[in-house]
Amino acid sequence: MKDCLFCKIARGEVKSETVYSDELVIAFNDINPQAPVHILIVPKEHIEGVTTLEEKHKNIIGHILLVAKRLAGEKSISEDGFRVLVNSGSNAGQVVEHLHFHLLGGDRLKPI
Ligand code: AMP
Ligand code: ZN
Repeated sequence: MKDCLFCKIARGEVKSETVYSDELVIAFNDINPQAPVHILIVPKEHIEGVTTLEEKHKNIIGHILLVAKRLAGEKSISEDGFRVLVNSGSNAGQVVEHLHFHLLGGDRLKPI
């Protein structure tokens, strides 16, 4: 997607503080962190969000959670706890229409 911000980040056209990248996903620090650790894990393929997921995306979703586990370990937030979440649609506050998982931790998080 030509004008999608997270596609541009995935292609390296917009700078990000990348913490992980492989053939399927890129992970980078959120520009407006809501916790000491706030990383976005994003598929390199443009998927708009949860509502447009299809059977063929099963692998990427599982992969994203495994990357979240890995990054939580690397950032030393596994033991104390962390949150992985996805916003879907306007009521949830989704502003970037390219699927992304938030990984939050490093402090006590507000209960949802
Ligand atoms: P959401 O509200 O779930 O759509 O989350 C979008 C997230 O993207 C927000 O937490 C923003 O702070 C973050 N964000 C927006 N632009 C950038 C950017 N250029 N680099 C890193 N994070 C960004
Ligand atoms: Zn995109």
